[in-house]
Amino acid sequence: MSLHTFIQQMPKAELHIHLEGAIEPTTLLRLAERNGVSLPADSPEALQTWYQFSDFPHFVEIYLKIQSCLRSADDFSTIAYELGADMARQNILYREATVTPYTHLIQDKGLVAEDIIAGLEDGRQRARRDFGVEIRWILDIHRNLEPPVAEVTTQLVLDWADRGVVALGLGGNEVNSPAAAFAPYFERVKATGLGSAPHAGEVAGPESVWSAVRDLQADRIGHGVRSIEDPHLLAELYDRQITLEVNPTSNVCLNVYRSIDQHPFIHLLRMGLSVTVNSDDPPLFNTTLTQEFAKLSDAFTLTRDDLRNLSLNALRSTFLSEAERRPLEDRMTAGFADLAGQSE
Ligand SMILES: [Zn+2]
Repeated sequence: MSLHTFIQQMPKAELHIHLEGAIEPTTLLRLAERNGVSLPADSPEALQTWYQFSDFPHFVEIYLKIQSCLRSADDFSTIAYELGADMARQNILYREATVTPYTHLIQDKGLVAEDIIAGLEDGRQRARRDFGVEIRWILDIHRNLEPPVAEVTTQLVLDWADRGVVALGLGGNEVNSPAAAFAPYFERVKATGLGSAPHAGEVAGPESVWSAVRDLQADRIGHGVRSIEDPHLLAELYDRQITLEVNPTSNVCLNVYRSIDQHPFIHLLRMGLSVTVNSDDPPLFNTTLTQEFAKLSDAFTLTRDDLRNLSLNALRSTFLSEAERRPLEDRMTAGFADLAGQSE
């Protein structure tokens, strides 16, 4: 069995993927038409051309346009269900997907918060029933928006903890938006036993990751790759085994690194940091989780053991309780044992 076949078939878990950034092009076109939203593209190919980012602000602009295509509980149910169908295709047993509720609520489209969670819950349950996959949600604060973005998002995390929400995130452009301003919100969430998973160290450097760790009590860092620029920070991340959610192709598309070859992934991994592989916004970056693993194994020398460890580490870095995680870990371990048997 070739390494690429092994990667395709191996059981996976993914911690960093944005629900609205994961919408399949054909689905996005259908939603736009259903809701009377005009997009600057009318075919999947034209969408791919539209998804050529010049920089991070340009990326955010496209993201907001995509969000404007979602208008009802049904729309959210559709994309949550399709997220699950995609998991089945890639043998992803478990995903924690990020949703940005606040931007939907201020887009003046008649959508209320309950529509969002009702749709997510319906799609998630149908995906579990039809594909046997598990999904949880992280709600993130869009850091560049005016109040009450943080207050509203935090309250939704607390309110929806019994409907699949496991953590508070922080997204948007890190530049000129210090994480420390959001400390009280993360403190409230952490106090109830929920997780902290802010983006940091992507567009901005190590100081942004330090702030996520110190001010936001981060359990995991979205990206965090620019930690490589500060040895003291690397030591801190190592000692506390704070997980980095690495998204290689996203970093290349948004010009954080010139190519996968120049990505610090392999150094972070070999240093013994808790590293995971993720796809961020797969159709926007023309990738999939499977392709992320394949690109990394082409660029660096990854063994089957590395791949197994990366998958298991993703599962061990989730916000699930021990009791929820155990059966998934058993399935993953059994899946790898099966693959090993076939390889002989
Ligand atoms: Zn992200």
